[in-house]
Amino acid sequence: MKYIYGIDIGGTFVKLGRFDETGTLLEKWQLPVDASKYAERMAPYVAGAVLVDMERMGISEGEVAGIGIGCPGTIDEKGVIHGAENLQMDQISMTGSMRRFLPMEIRMENDANCAALGEYIFGEGKAYDSMAFLTLGTGVGGGIIASGSLLTGAHRCAAEFGHMQVDEAESTPCSCGRYGCLEQYCSARGITRMSGGFSPVEIFTAMQYIDETTEPLKSAALRTYERFSEKLAKGCALIADVADPAVFVIGGGVSNAGDVVVKRARELYRTFVYPGAKNTEIRISKLKNDAGIYGAAALIGHFSEKNRKV
Ligand SMILES: [Zn+2]
Repeated sequence: MKYIYGIDIGGTFVKLGRFDETGTLLEKWQLPVDASKYAERMAPYVAGAVLVDMERMGISEGEVAGIGIGCPGTIDEKGVIHGAENLQMDQISMTGSMRRFLPMEIRMENDANCAALGEYIFGEGKAYDSMAFLTLGTGVGGGIIASGSLLTGAHRCAAEFGHMQVDEAESTPCSCGRYGCLEQYCSARGITRMSGGFSPVEIFTAMQYIDETTEPLKSAALRTYERFSEKLAKGCALIADVADPAVFVIGGGVSNAGDVVVKRARELYRTFVYPGAKNTEIRISKLKNDAGIYGAAALIGHFSEKNRKV
């Protein structure tokens, strides 16, 4: 039996999964990340975690088909990371450094693209040929799968959904320097900003029990939920105008609140989008926080289209 490691590098944790060659997740675990300390040390840290697991399980180098890694930032064809500033990993060659410890196939992709791939092959996108995946976390990211392939773009920055402009009247700047980006309304940070300090969990829980919710949360939840839903629906409509995916899948930490996250956005989407795409479904991620490790493992390419339909 051959094994594949799928790794998802984030700002707080590195998530790791050991898969078999059919894409079955055998074991998963996570390690803490102190973002201020890593940069060049991330590669030996991650490689060490894989080596420890191989040692523990008695797995030889020859039994590992490869290692797939998802990481924030723009990842070029050579596996060099550009612009993952919050991890201090700008201009870091991750795959090159890892191969010094693990001489095997190592492939890397942007973390949101990995999550999209995972959800497409193993999750909520399984029954479709195309999909747009939006991850609503600290920021907003995403990925597009068209005719079975991940759309990466000429500059490796396709599907930067978080920075689509959805509000021309915004006066607060986004982290990218522009105004009115989707991320300013649909990320966890954006929800907290719009609500005047409430967390996404508080807002979405309040919406499910609105009659029992007291002020000031009640008004904040009603106001924030409508604005969040309008922006999410507008974002999906813009994506549909360009890519017309067969389904939208919403993942990331914010989506953990469940169906309520997309309930109102579904109704609004129908009114914003080009009529031909008005019946496209908006669903909540099935794999949740594991989408990234599944997609990273899928980069190794041993999960065929046929496996996907099983
Ligand atoms: Zn922006």
